[in-house]
Parts: sequence; structure tokens; C-alpha cells
Amino acid sequence: MMSWLKDNVTEPVMSSMAGIFAPRNSLSITNSKGLLNAPGENNCFLNSAVQVLWHLDVFRRSFRQLSGHACMGNSCIFCALKVIFTQFQYSDETALPPDALRKALAETFEDQQRFQLGFMDDAAECFESILLRIHYHIANEVKEDMCNAKHCISHQKFAMTVVEQCMCGCGATSEPLPFTQMVHYVSVTAMIAQGKEMLEKTKKPYPEMFGQLLKNAGGVGDLRNCPSNCGERVQIRRMLMNSPEIVSLGLVWDTDQPTVEHIMDVINCLGTTIRLVDVFHSVVDDSAAGKVLHLVGVVTYYGKHYSTFFFHTRLKTWIYFDDATVKEIGSKWKDVVEKCRKGHYQPLLLLFADHFGSPVNTETAPTETTMLPGYTHGEGTQLPRVERRPSGGWSISF
Ligand SMILES: [Zn+2]
Ligand SMILES: [Zn+2]
Ligand SMILES: [Zn+2]
Repeated sequence: MMSWLKDNVTEPVMSSMAGIFAPRNSLSITNSKGLLNAPGENNCFLNSAVQVLWHLDVFRRSFRQLSGHACMGNSCIFCALKVIFTQFQYSDETALPPDALRKALAETFEDQQRFQLGFMDDAAECFESILLRIHYHIANEVKEDMCNAKHCISHQKFAMTVVEQCMCGCGATSEPLPFTQMVHYVSVTAMIAQGKEMLEKTKKPYPEMFGQLLKNAGGVGDLRNCPSNCGERVQIRRMLMNSPEIVSLGLVWDTDQPTVEHIMDVINCLGTTIRLVDVFHSVVDDSAAGKVLHLVGVVTYYGKHYSTFFFHTRLKTWIYFDDATVKEIGSKWKDVVEKCRKGHYQPLLLLFADHFGSPVNTETAPTETTMLPGYTHGEGTQLPRVERRPSGGWSISF
């Protein structure tokens, strides 16, 4: 076990009383820190992805238990994420530099010219890419599409294993097409159209509506010819094979400068809970059948800039992260909506989480760190060491 992990403490358990008496704007107890973004760095897409990962309890608690991995030295996203998570937990600073992770990301994706230093990139793709890299570092012997490693946070907690199939009324069925997705994308145009259509029928919104809306919007424009060519056009059916604890929903816009009305049309479609049985045509895993996921995070976009809202589980309040700036917004979803309306923020990535989610089982996790061929331990790639200062607080050394 890495030396720093031995000192690692569990999250401070706050009594509900402490929550009540905590000063309203004191964020020191929440471990909610900002992330730096100096002019020209264009870190905001990465900062949003990191805030999401840190604030997702299941991810944070799972990642904390893992240390052994296949390492890529200076380009190692696993190590770089460890560095920033350690700082989130122990640093006295209110805003932290994401530099190590920014560099590791740029080096890892240099061949594809994605996430390069100084350039703006996509927050949802960055989030998805980090999850896939985590898989690579801790379960690289298993192929991404068939990963069932118990300790793989990405595939155990986030991945949706879906089988697509056409089933025609004439009885013909197409070959089932299985695939794995980390983010479920949906077009906002299809969502708004479906929302209007559904409301016309039911007259008023109902709790399951948003999940069903996602299912319907996912099928818009996706009619296929009957597999045995009976002449019918058939809706594709999507079956969920597993039971993810976090569902990441990517909203696809056709403009990056929508009117406030358009933004509000989209936001008014959104629900704060989804049931997996509503989002997919059917679910196979028993535990998916009754699962309700709750909206806990939103990455938004305005004026070539990403910022993030996250619901803090212990404080029971929404917090807004805009790079180094961290603000409490309020306890209600409508407080977030109001902020989006005023700031013209487009919701781009929504995170839904299971309140009963648990960390991964680490029995199968690698116990040692091995260097991948062609990589060496470089400066600053060692996992940070955390020590309690005699004077109180923590010191972190790299
Ligand atoms: Zn590493
Ligand atoms: Zn995996
Ligand atoms: Zn047919």
C-alpha cells in the first residue's frame, strides 16, 4: 500500500447538528475548493470535469481506496488525479492548480490532438475520457467493452451496457447490437419536441415524465427498416443490461448562443429524478428495475466558458463552481434554475446518482504500481505524502 494511503483518514463525519450551526457561507468544512484557471490556460473544461468527479460520492470514495495501477509517469492521469484529490482533502488553499492533471491529459491525448495545453476543449468529453483512462490504468488487461472488473469504478458505477435491437410487429427482429456508453447523449431539440407532445396528452407533468422523455427523445429520427423488409419502419429498442449507480446525461445543442427562452425551454424539460426503467425500453438487471437516480450535478456553458453546479450531500445545498470561485446557491433545484436563467447558462452534462451507491469492491484491484513500458518515474509523479502537522492541519509533500 502506498505510504500516503496509510495516513488517509475517512471523510470527517459531520453530525447533523454541525450542519445546522455551520455559518452559511463557510465552505472550509465542505472540502469544496476552487480550481485555478489563469488567463490563456483555458482550464475550465477540465476544472468542471474534476469538480464533478470529486463531488460524486461514489467516485471519490472508490478512488480513494485504489492505489496500485499501471503507471505512465508524468503522463499518468491516475497519479495526477490522486494529486488533486489529495489537495482537495488536505490543502489549506481555497483554490488549487489543476496543472499536473492538465499536463497528463495533454500528454496522454497528444496523438489525437485533444485536450492540449492552452486550448479549450469539451467538458463532457473530458469527463468521459478521464473515466476511460481510469479503466485503462487499473484494469488494462480487460477490454473496455467487456470490462467486468469489480474494482473498475468506471465500468462498475458509470458505464451503461446497452443492447439495441429492432423488433417489428411482423415478428422480425434484428441482430442485437451491444455497446457500452459512459455518457447518454440526447438532443435538446428532440427533448423539447417530445416534451410538448407528452404534455399535450397528459396536460400536466408527472414524476416519471423526464425519464420517459429521454427514452422518446432518444428514438426521434431513429426509425429503421424492418429487418425482414415487410415495409414497416421500426423504432429501435434499447435494453439496459446492467445497473449503473451514476447516469451521466449529455445534452446536445445545435447552437452555443441560444436565447434565454430556448435555455429555459430545455431546463423546463429537465426532471430531478430518473428511473432506469423509464429511460430504457427494458432493464435486465433486477437491481436496475427499482432504481431511482437523483440529479446531483450540472455542468453548464456560457460564452466559451464552463462552470458547474453540484449538490453537496452533507450540506444539502447546491454549490456553484466557476474555476477558483465557489459559492453556495441554495438548497432547491429552482435556485440553480434561476442562476442559469440570469447567467444564460446552457446545461450540457447532467449527473444523476443513486443515494444508496457504495464504493467499488477492491478485492480484485492491483496491489502494486507497475510502470508501463516506455515510461519512467519522473519528477512529481510520486503520489503525494500527507502528514499531520504538530501545529494542527495537514502538510502535503510530493
Ligand atoms: Zn501513475
Ligand atoms: Zn473497466
Ligand atoms: Zn416487419
